[in-house]
Amino acid sequence: MREKITLECSECKQRNYDSMKNKKNNPDRIEMKKYCKFCKKHTDHKETK
Ligand SMILES: [Zn+2]
Repeated sequence: MREKITLECSECKQRNYDSMKNKKNNPDRIEMKKYCKFCKKHTDHKETK
């Protein structure tokens, strides 16, 4: 049940990370703090399709 997701910076909307998630454990869109090299700081990154 693992699915490939893309994480998008909530500030600049750049897609910075590819990740995997377990759809059973995380049925909703996930969000995590990641370093954005475009913002040059840690920002919230949201799952996108
Ligand atoms: Zn950014």
